Amino acid sequence: MLSDKIQNALNGQHVAELYSAYLYLSMAAYFDAEGLPGFANWMRVQAQEEVSHGMKFYYYVNERDGRVVLGPIDGPPTDWDSPVAAFEHVLAHERKVTALINGLVKLAAEEKDQATADFLSWFVKEQLEEEESAEAVLQKVAGAGAELAAADGELGARVFKPPAASS
Ligand code: MG
Repeated sequence: MLSDKIQNALNGQHVAELYSAYLYLSMAAYFDAEGLPGFANWMRVQAQEEVSHGMKFYYYVNERDGRVVLGPIDGPPTDWDSPVAAFEHVLAHERKVTALINGLVKLAAEEKDQATADFLSWFVKEQLEEEESAEAVLQKVAGAGAELAAADGELGARVFKPPAASS
């Protein structure tokens, strides 16, 4: 049986994972609107992963004879200034989620709930991967942005040279 504190915290994390799904689906819609379907695909897959994270909390609470209670999910932002800004947001968001998971691990220790601590260890590893993959994509996108800006600078330097008068 779960303590009320643990049950509420796990239910809260279920909602946090669903918010992540909502956030990434919103980013998918942004990238589709920007004409970047590959980025949109990455975000939709990411959103599906987040739903599966949420379901892990659902099944675990049930398995421990707890009660799954679904809270409201906040609305996500709908626009970003650039692809780089969107991926900076992904990285910042995943760091927040890591802090939430670490908070749950701390609570499980305080409540002496070893089964919950074991359950959470999967998420501790998963968050390492989430942060790593967000950093990798951010680097790639920022690099591409820098190349595009450099090319834009070069092309911007072109000036019209009138043809030499023929003699
Ligand atoms: Mg997650």
